[in-house]
Amino acid sequence: MRYMTESEIDALGPDPALADVAPLERARRAMQRAGCWGDNQQMGGRWPIGCVALEITQRCNLDCTLCYLSEHSEAVKDVPLDEVFRRIDLICRHYGPNTDVQITGGDPTLRRRDELVAIVRRVRERGLRPTLMTNGRKATRELLEELAAAGLVDVAFHVDTTQGLKGYRNEVDLNALRSVYLDRAQGLPLSVMFNTTVHDGNVDAIPDLVRFFRANAGRLRTASFQVQAATGRGVHEKKTAITLDAVAGQIERGAGTPINFRSSMIGHPRCSRYGLCFEVNGRLYDALDESEFVARLQSATAHLVLDRGDRRKVAKEFFAWLAVNPRHWASVLEWTAAKAWRMKADLTAARGRINTLSFLIHGFMDACALERERIEACVFKTMTRDGPISMCLHNAKRDSFILQSVRVHTSAGERFWQPLTGALGIRPDAPSALASEEYGLKRAKGRTRWRLIDQRAR
Ligand code: SF4
Repeated sequence: MRYMTESEIDALGPDPALADVAPLERARRAMQRAGCWGDNQQMGGRWPIGCVALEITQRCNLDCTLCYLSEHSEAVKDVPLDEVFRRIDLICRHYGPNTDVQITGGDPTLRRRDELVAIVRRVRERGLRPTLMTNGRKATRELLEELAAAGLVDVAFHVDTTQGLKGYRNEVDLNALRSVYLDRAQGLPLSVMFNTTVHDGNVDAIPDLVRFFRANAGRLRTASFQVQAATGRGVHEKKTAITLDAVAGQIERGAGTPINFRSSMIGHPRCSRYGLCFEVNGRLYDALDESEFVARLQSATAHLVLDRGDRRKVAKEFFAWLAVNPRHWASVLEWTAAKAWRMKADLTAARGRINTLSFLIHGFMDACALERERIEACVFKTMTRDGPISMCLHNAKRDSFILQSVRVHTSAGERFWQPLTGALGIRPDAPSALASEEYGLKRAKGRTRWRLIDQRAR
């Protein structure tokens, strides 16, 4: 495997907006170039992008051992609201409506509450799908209610042993906290996701974790697993040997059923795996086990805009499509009958009640082991001042983005906001040009962090 050199990493910047190529077509070409295009590929067929991260603060109230933030993050002020709005518009321009926007940070709940609500509202008003990515500490029921009313679609709670939370010895202990978060979101029009960073210390706990998710399938939609990557300010003692397939195997163990993680692809196969199960009467059944049928149906329905947060709407949309596509009637009927037959005992016991549970596995790259092919086929971007960029590439040189000055318009004219001071200057000074004595070190949350020295104290 050839990894990108330092100069190649330096030279690669955000994607330019291409007015003459539609977003879906651009994604399809990227998949083709990477050799991962086909009927089972969602990127370029149904979606132009998996999701775009919108970082609205660099601050966090936790200090995970595998954190992707940089040592400068704690020193950076929250990017101005107008700039966040401009980046939302940029997401729209690059990928069009219905794009999943991960409102993230740091932890976005540390941003001023009225600003967070305004950001969620703006994302939704632009026809995009906002997700709140949070560790849950400050995501109170009241806040979730307010955000749901402003248009939030999903909430993703990051809970795992990398957070070092007191009183929780292992992943199973943390299920008590996951239950608290499920209760907080219960009854709100939000779909719930849990994020787990997989590392050598918790990979064996995945089956137990999946059993917990299975038992709560009616209350959450997605369980997402990210394999640890050596990037950011976290503690990366050694490279992990955990593979995406190993995580998939652990998920299957907990699910109690084989799951076909190759039927429906989201981008490059070295980046991610996706599986979907039906939960009936506490048992999971693979929904995507028949690859050919899934690929056929996926490509035939790629143009449908499905509201994943509303199962009834999805079903209505699908059956309306099916009604006018008789050539798919036989295969859909055959598939439905076979599934119903396999699930018949549980369907009877559950009185026909079915939930779905999705599993996502993602493998970010180590900062020093970036593969150009994956970067170019990336489906998980971060929006920067100058456009979207692969999340792996962003994390590998995060400081060069978070320390950029930002152009703002004031009543006095154009100014440049400086991320380390929050001050507005008349010149777009590159942050690297700031004198090193402007910085200082502080101990924060148990480790050394860069910060601005308080000028008044000097
Ligand atoms: S962020 Fe990295 S791992 Fe994820 S899709 Fe992009 S290149 Fe692949």
